[in-house]
Amino acid sequence: MRYQGREVDIEGRVRLVMESALTARDRVGVQDFVLLENYNSEAAFIENLRRRFRENLIYTYIGSVLVSVNPYKELEIYSKQQMERYRGVSFYEISPHIYALSDNTYRAMRTERKDQCILISGESGAGKTEASKKILLYYAVTCPTNDHMAILGDRLLQSNPVLEVFSIWLFKLNSECPQYVFSLDCVILLLHCFFQFCFLPLIFWLFSPAKAFGNAKTLRNDNSSRFGKYMDVQFDFRGTPVGGHILNYLLEKSRVVHQNHGERNFHIFYQLLDGGDDDLLITLDLERNPQNYRYLVKGNCPRVSSISDKNNWKVVMKALPVIGFTEEEVQKLLNIIASVLHLGNTQFGEGEEGDTYITTETQTSNLAKLLGVDGSALREALTHKKLTAKGEEVIVCLSLLHFQFFHMCCVDFHSCHACVCVLQMISPLNYEQAVSARDALAKAVYGRTFTWLVEKINQSLALKEEIYHSSKDSSVIGLLDIYGFEVLQQNSFEQFCINYCNEKLQQLFIELTLRSEQEEYETEGIAWETVQYFDNKIICDLIEEKHKGIISILDEECLRPGETCDVSFLEKLEDTVGSHPHFITHKLANGKTRRVVSREEFRLLHYAGEVNYNVNGFLDKNNDLLNRNLKEVMCQSDNQILSHCFRREEVIDQKRPEMAATQFKNSLMKLMEILMSKEPSYVRCIKPNDAKQPGRFDEVLVRHQVKYLGLMENLRVRRAGFAYRRRFEAFLQRYKPLCPETWPNWHGRLVDGVSTLVNHLGYKAEEYKLGRSKIFIRFPKTLFTTEDALEAK
Ligand code: ADP
Ligand code: MG
Repeated sequence: MRYQGREVDIEGRVRLVMESALTARDRVGVQDFVLLENYNSEAAFIENLRRRFRENLIYTYIGSVLVSVNPYKELEIYSKQQMERYRGVSFYEISPHIYALSDNTYRAMRTERKDQCILISGESGAGKTEASKKILLYYAVTCPTNDHMAILGDRLLQSNPVLEVFSIWLFKLNSECPQYVFSLDCVILLLHCFFQFCFLPLIFWLFSPAKAFGNAKTLRNDNSSRFGKYMDVQFDFRGTPVGGHILNYLLEKSRVVHQNHGERNFHIFYQLLDGGDDDLLITLDLERNPQNYRYLVKGNCPRVSSISDKNNWKVVMKALPVIGFTEEEVQKLLNIIASVLHLGNTQFGEGEEGDTYITTETQTSNLAKLLGVDGSALREALTHKKLTAKGEEVIVCLSLLHFQFFHMCCVDFHSCHACVCVLQMISPLNYEQAVSARDALAKAVYGRTFTWLVEKINQSLALKEEIYHSSKDSSVIGLLDIYGFEVLQQNSFEQFCINYCNEKLQQLFIELTLRSEQEEYETEGIAWETVQYFDNKIICDLIEEKHKGIISILDEECLRPGETCDVSFLEKLEDTVGSHPHFITHKLANGKTRRVVSREEFRLLHYAGEVNYNVNGFLDKNNDLLNRNLKEVMCQSDNQILSHCFRREEVIDQKRPEMAATQFKNSLMKLMEILMSKEPSYVRCIKPNDAKQPGRFDEVLVRHQVKYLGLMENLRVRRAGFAYRRRFEAFLQRYKPLCPETWPNWHGRLVDGVSTLVNHLGYKAEEYKLGRSKIFIRFPKTLFTTEDALEAK
């Protein structure tokens, strides 16, 4: 006999186990964490994950939450046969799988006629986008097709060499990602998707243009989505997918102008330089080498071995017309991409008076052409600022050396008799200001174009009304692919927003889980028992409350006239929310915390753990300001995409646009409303190691994610009531051999059969309850004893 040598057992106790004594449960762990006896033990939780991961069982449930560990290798579990296995089968009757969750969600939508949503979270590289792809593929293959789709399909085929696009895409995957050597099965599966034309745009969305514009290589993931997305898939009354809609959140615009070492800018720039033909590059005045562009050299990583920019370029260029881009629109889009690169190369010199001038004159002329704007106006706007104060324009009157304030509406320079010469509201920028105005323009141009692109994709995904006379009967499955808690060495404004988003999602989780538990108890006629859990509303309030919350204080500080800076924001926070139990700064900590909070940081005690935020850059990022005269220049652009993105009203309207955090808060509120109206399912993704290697389970890394994904808290909420529930017929079917009165068949009412069975097994009254159609078992141990008895039989 051999010792296994495992130190911690599934319940977090130390023990040595002989191999022969290992039961299946010991070897592969439990498939639902609610069945862990010691559900408060993080060690037991992680041990269970590790055991399953070792056996290539990457999926485990926490009730109806699916936990997924990235295997970093192709597993043979996504074939069409596997899809068939999960079709129509109840959640708990079969091993955990993303298909089980997809199928359950789909069936719930069909039978209960209620909109559903699947919330996928996890840190970068944990497998969120893969999970959403698998869900979509499942629907593409298993949902019924519809004759009417052929009309749309024909249209697509006639207008575009779609099949070719598709084969390029397949070829690309095969050649670029050796870890993705596609089996024939998979190819058939993908072709199947192709023939379900309604899904084609969705698949394109996931794979090419949006990926090119919204994804980038980071240290954690070669193809990391740098924005959050919520996607609705619409189904008609027959359950056929017929349309969709996408909402995007928080594109990481700062990446356009800066990348950390080893990371890249968004893929599209490299694709254009690598894949664009010579003529195109000449028209755009571009050189092939990415090293020539300042916005592309910061990370010192022009190439990624796992990615072929050239092939991806082809795919994107073929996909754009499929999504509905005209040739002209494609050209305008390319002009914009090129103009961002040229903007990055625009350099400034300093004049003697502290003013600034552009040293790259010829480039700027080309840049103006690409942006479709007037060259001298652009030059002026890049080096000068229009002054505004409290909604009034400041007119600098040189001759009298005084300022006159005019209301915008009555500005008429020539009617100012006091002024002999009126210089038009302009002051020169110094060097740093010019550089940041340029970067702000690049970020605005790119960010707004991205939003436009998503709108455009939405138009092509829209429910085809002309084909489906009535959309009344349609239902929706929403997919949310959004970053989980982010805790980096240095956390800034971006992490603050992301983590705030996760607090809100947790609030939703608590509310909806408890609500559905309560509903189930009610329908089953079981008395509701109050449960113990941590309600994170207090933290959400700290962040978002009107006038008193951190976001309000940040906005106020951005608007306050006079000298404000990140440090004054921190001081204001200390004054206003300093006494909040979830807020700490260096001053307030007084050496009381174990981990140091520096003088430039504040710490929030999130539900998942503590995070320090460095306030440097908070004000600027929240302001996200683009000088007014730059906006004015842009809204006169003859590039239709840009004139659509930069509206004239924005310049005329003197109201200050919403600040970044408030914008995000409002879009989150809307998202919460959408999600609240649906029945949720959850996928929590975990990355097992940082090296992207198969078979490696880094315990420290996993523990960190278990903590910040709030999985222990998830488990506590789930375990608050009964650990396990099963329909009478399923329970009876499985355990009837254990009781002579129910074996081989029970002929009476199901509830009586179950009652007879559990009485025979000696269940105590406090261990279980019988509802109308299900048995509820409070402790896993009860179930395990029964399982062991069955095994021994
Ligand atoms: P995220 O969207 O969370 O940042 P991705 O979904 O892009 O992460 O996954 C990163 C990489 O991990 C993928 O490119 C793929 O190589 C691998 N991966 C993720 N999930 C799986 C899976 N279920 N099977 C095989 N490989 C996976
Ligand atoms: Mg992703």
